[in-house]
Amino acid sequence: MEYSGEEFDVIVVGAGIMGSSTAYQLAKRGQKTLLLEQFDFLHHRGSSHGESRTIRATYPEDYYFPMVLESSLLWEQAQSEIGYKVYFKAHHFDVGPYESKSLRSVISCCEKNSISHQVLDRRQVFDKFSGRFDIPENWVGVATELGGIIKPTKAVSMFQTLAIKNGAILRDNTEVKTILKDNVKGGGVTVVISNGEKLWGKKCVVTAGAWVGKLVKKISGVELPIQPVETGVCYWRIKEGNEAAYAVGGDFPTFASYGDTHVYGTPSLEYPGLIKIAVHGGYPCDPDKRPWGPGIALDSLKEWIEGIFAGRVDSNGPVATQLCMYSVTPDEDFVIDFLGGEFGKDLVIGGGFSGHGFKMAPVVGRILADLVLRGEAEGVELKHFRVDRFKENPKGNVKDFEDQVIFAVNPE
Ligand SMILES: Cc1cc2nc3c(=O)[nH]c(=O)nc-3n(C[C@H](O)[C@H](O)[C@H](O)COP(=O)(O)OP(=O)(O)OC[C@H]3O[C@@H](n4cnc5c(N)ncnc54)[C@H](O)[C@@H]3O)c2cc1C
Repeated sequence: MEYSGEEFDVIVVGAGIMGSSTAYQLAKRGQKTLLLEQFDFLHHRGSSHGESRTIRATYPEDYYFPMVLESSLLWEQAQSEIGYKVYFKAHHFDVGPYESKSLRSVISCCEKNSISHQVLDRRQVFDKFSGRFDIPENWVGVATELGGIIKPTKAVSMFQTLAIKNGAILRDNTEVKTILKDNVKGGGVTVVISNGEKLWGKKCVVTAGAWVGKLVKKISGVELPIQPVETGVCYWRIKEGNEAAYAVGGDFPTFASYGDTHVYGTPSLEYPGLIKIAVHGGYPCDPDKRPWGPGIALDSLKEWIEGIFAGRVDSNGPVATQLCMYSVTPDEDFVIDFLGGEFGKDLVIGGGFSGHGFKMAPVVGRILADLVLRGEAEGVELKHFRVDRFKENPKGNVKDFEDQVIFAVNPE
């Protein structure tokens, strides 16, 4: 096997938020790091572009809470290193029917982790938000403090810049065709790229987003149950006179709603006078043959907006929509693990972030760097993220989290 001459400590495949944060972590630790991206940097065909992502601490699963806490510190640290803001703090608010399992899990997550929270009935919600949330009679709201908005494209750019500042090499428009176990140098991996070059890395991290299943299958034959899903976000016009009341920087929170439709949104930030309100769902697709719309039906979302925002947001239709990709596992937990087989501990996968990974990117980067350099990661329980959980039950362990993702809406 001939090499192009370039050799690295770690080659990271895929420059979305996870690969960029990992490359930053590795370079900062003095590793000779190469980050490869198949498209232009900051492209809009994956999962990490756009204007806003929510950060929240209220996870129904205990194991995400410490990861969110660590991430929120790491977000602050990275933005202070770069010198501009990507993380805008806000409070967070979950609402839903009193009997919703998801909402009850949110409350018990707060109790178990001593997260300061208020459980509010309809009247208390109405008063707390001066009428900006008007939930049905049998619903409750859970108000917490750790929430906020992260600017995704800006955050990816931040980690790429920090990686470069720490000595990493970044190459875009460079598709990784395959990765082979290297038998010539007595270890490591050979990464074959689109122009035929063969690069050598002592170790490799694959953070290929919606393409991770395809790439892993090609290099090892292993089929990961990670489903690419096209989803979209919608921006709605706030009715005149109410704009400031829904803007970031005041008391309006990021929010999630666990009714029949799982709705989420952020205070108005990126487009003045517009607010992001979207449905957590989409339709399965091949990332290389995207339908690019039409998006999911919005009838229930319109109803939700009209009811919950009490006529203060124009629910006739979104003013703008943006499409994006989820990579969903059956249990919606991440995949963070060694690929194993002939690669042993030389190749680590970070994928399947299932529509809720962005907030965790700094800690995921830290964990992936730990795993690839030291073979283990401290301070995190990785058993929920192991590949072999799918072997035990090939359909995965679909959680009792009834209103999480909707795949029922077919574009046809
Ligand atoms: C609409 C939407 C809203 C979301 N909201 C939230 C939220 O509020 N909070 C939250 O925490 N998370 C949220 N998420 C989820 C979060 O954005 C994703 O979990 C995260 O962006 C995943 O990042 P990634 O790096 O794994 O994937 P990507 O960003 O897709 O990066 C993978 C990269 O790998 C590249 N690649 C693939 N194959 C190859 C190859 N063979 N060679 C070279 N490069 C390759 C791809 O081109 C891509 O750039 C949301 C996602 C979407 C789509």
